Amino acid sequence: MDDTTVEAFSNTAVPRDMPPGTKAAHLTCDICRRRLGKNIFFVEETGDVPDEKRAWTLCGECNDAVHAQLVDSPVRTPLRLRVAVGLVAAERTPEARRSNFGQLTDESWTKIFLWLFPITMIIHLLVIVAIAGWFK
Ligand SMILES: [Zn+2]
Repeated sequence: MDDTTVEAFSNTAVPRDMPPGTKAAHLTCDICRRRLGKNIFFVEETGDVPDEKRAWTLCGECNDAVHAQLVDSPVRTPLRLRVAVGLVAAERTPEARRSNFGQLTDESWTKIFLWLFPITMIIHLLVIVAIAGWFK
């Protein structure tokens, strides 16, 4: 592991900036904003970064994607982690997913069509039954 990341694993992470006594809100991934399950990954910048050091709470998938970016990245400065998180966020944030909706993979389109066929058949059947009942 390189010296620019610190990673901790915890199932009992305490949300930041939460006054005591308030009901715990669900923790969400800082990148994809999905609710975090049992595996919570905490990634923090270390070293000489220009401004305030940043930290991210990530889900397993985003953590894997960030680490894959770190391995592939040619950047060797302390900002390496920030760049990797930014690149992963460009693909995995809800806004990015919405803007990339038209650029789905063949596998994703197959799943969509696999669900749309039975739904369309059921709706079609309901319309036929309604029309048949109407002209009884
Ligand atoms: Zn995530």
